[in-house]
Amino acid sequence: MSEIVEPVSFPPDLETLIERKKADATFTHKDWSCDELEPLRSLVRRHYRRVQKGRCAYCRKDVSLTSALNCHVEHIAPKSKYPQFMFEPKNLCVVCADCNEIKREQEVANAEPDTLASRTGRISYPRSSNGFRIVQPHFDEYSKHILVYRGFFIDRTDKGNFTIGACKLNRRLREFGWDEKIVEDGELLEASQEFIEASDAIARLAALNRIRDACLS
Ligand SMILES: [Zn+2]
Repeated sequence: MSEIVEPVSFPPDLETLIERKKADATFTHKDWSCDELEPLRSLVRRHYRRVQKGRCAYCRKDVSLTSALNCHVEHIAPKSKYPQFMFEPKNLCVVCADCNEIKREQEVANAEPDTLASRTGRISYPRSSNGFRIVQPHFDEYSKHILVYRGFFIDRTDKGNFTIGACKLNRRLREFGWDEKIVEDGELLEASQEFIEASDAIARLAALNRIRDACLS
């Protein structure tokens, strides 16, 4: 089952506001943060925070349950590339501050990975998992694509691989290296090195099994 089973729906006053913004030729994706849209952003945040059970759609870590600072509204198909989907309920979810910052930096640098499988003539929003290169919480079950084990993110599918790369999910490992417990243990260290150097998902899973065995021994 997909992670999100209930897309947000907008009350009539916000639907009217959306239609007005869509009809405004001067409105761009950069205006998503404007004051007038604050009630809409707030509604979207509250809705997906609840439906996602307080977890980031990409890294699965906790988002803030009360503050907006660690619970950001995310456009799964980037709003800079696909402004036509800026208000599409199935294009929205919430993510943590770290995942949001990575996406924001990509947007500023105009280097956002294209999360849709096909861009040509895209007028209507994709209706199934096949339309996306990224693990899409409205269509995909996270654990079928990505295995999270002791803080490591391991791809099980091409989508998982794309998502880990696009959202830099193994950023903690890159930033801080392996935790001390692993470094102190020779077998764990060797298995961990094997994991880093693995060239494909099968090799990574084999290395992961070694890590798991070493942890249990
Ligand atoms: Zn996250």
